[in-house]
Amino acid sequence: MTDAPTIFERIIAREIPADIVFEDDRVIAFRDIAPKAPVHLLVVPKTAAYPDVASLADADPALLAHVVAVAKQLAGEHADGDYRLVFNSGVGAGQTVFHVHAHVLGGGLTEGSLG
Ligand code: 5GP
Repeated sequence: MTDAPTIFERIIAREIPADIVFEDDRVIAFRDIAPKAPVHLLVVPKTAAYPDVASLADADPALLAHVVAVAKQLAGEHADGDYRLVFNSGVGAGQTVFHVHAHVLGGGLTEGSLG
């Protein structure tokens, strides 16, 4: 028996809608449904093999580097080029979707704040 698909797999499969801002053969990026900053995008590898950033880094560092490169590109297109890149890892850190994803936060972040 396989696990039920995550919400991000369903977005990748176009089973549920999302405001998609970028897609290539390896990643998809879309606006977070509950934005925590004026610009809040999610960059998501299409593979569901990795639940968090550490497992992605171990298994496919080139894919992680691509996620980071896409995040930088999108921060330039959707914000002023400055951005915060967040990978929540584990329930205790607030992770709710166990399909690795980068939060790209930008556009008027509070100086010196991690919140
Ligand atoms: P996590 O808490 O796992 O780091 O991040 C999951 C993110 O996915 C949250 O910021 C949440 O708002 C976002 N999210 C959850 N469900 C959906 C959805 O159906 N569509 C979109 N666009 N974002 C979602």
